[in-house]
Amino acid sequence: MKLLVTGGAGFIGSNFIGYWLSHYPDDHIINLDALTYAGTTANVADLEDHPHYTFVKGNITNSARVDTIMKDVDTVVHFAAESHVDRSIQDALPFLQTNVIGTQILLNSALKHKNIKRFHHISTDEVFGSLELDSSEKFTEDTPYNPRNPYSASKAASDHLVRAAYETHGLPMTISNCSNNYGPYHHPEKMIPRAITRLMQGKKVPVYGDGNYVRDWLYVIDHARAIDQIVHDGTVGETYLIGGLRDDITNLELVKMIVSIMDMDESMIEFVKDRPGHDRRYAVDWSYINRELGWEPQVSLEEGLRKTIEWYASHSDYARA
Ligand code: NAD
Repeated sequence: MKLLVTGGAGFIGSNFIGYWLSHYPDDHIINLDALTYAGTTANVADLEDHPHYTFVKGNITNSARVDTIMKDVDTVVHFAAESHVDRSIQDALPFLQTNVIGTQILLNSALKHKNIKRFHHISTDEVFGSLELDSSEKFTEDTPYNPRNPYSASKAASDHLVRAAYETHGLPMTISNCSNNYGPYHHPEKMIPRAITRLMQGKKVPVYGDGNYVRDWLYVIDHARAIDQIVHDGTVGETYLIGGLRDDITNLELVKMIVSIMDMDESMIEFVKDRPGHDRRYAVDWSYINRELGWEPQVSLEEGLRKTIEWYASHSDYARA
């Protein structure tokens, strides 16, 4: 297989490329990444000498650059995105440019070159909006879209465009909507790495509002395995939801777990002003991908947090935020 991976210098993309090349060393990967504030080649430094790995610095909104690469690959795994909700609340335009326009440029190019056997689009459970705290409802592949912030609205738009390319032009695509990832190489602006890196520096950990927000936590390598199975065995035109083993823990409880694993005191937690329009709860029903492809998450939250904390402890230069 010859893959174009977009956004492979970011958190999930870099973990995915490392995973893929260790499992399929004969495949070729071209990593196209604009190296925004969120991406760094340090995330893929271990792969630089791999004979089948090529890094191209470039923007997915540059159709000429995308065309040059697209003609030489047979598979696209599309991660590149503006990904931070808080930034989208400050300025939505970069989210529309990359997540919406950039996705359409990739689709146009994939359709033009006709050699693409699979276009896999990475999306988020946030397109479905927010669940009630006191319900046991979970998102499924049939949940209606209801994005509530500019980031999730832009990802919802990109999902629709990918589906439209399949319905109207027959592009062989799949989509996955995953829950919150965590693990190595995660930018410290995000909640788990921010907590870990701040504690490592002896700083307090900020928790939004009352901390009573519930997320579904997916270890990033469990996610990479799910994408692997979808790209190899998923049905063209299908959407798969991917979630983790814990979807019942509040942000406050999660931060307390991190504080405890790091042998610190709960006085290191401070409550800060809430994010506007903050979604209360996400939970993903991953039974469809389990039935269809046999995938299930394997890494418990406790184990994943320990691995993540160990990784940041041995990469103390990573505390960039
Ligand atoms: P990230 O912000 O860590 O990485 C994004 C990467 O895309 C960066 O390397 C950045 O340089 C690159 N990029 C941004 N704009 C670009 C452009 N215009 N052209 C080329 N490259 C560009 O993001 P992430 O957390 O790794 O997320 C990857 C994907 O997974 C995104 O599509 C995101 O919406 C989705 N997702 C992430 C999570 C999560 O918990 N992190 C959850 C659900 C879905």
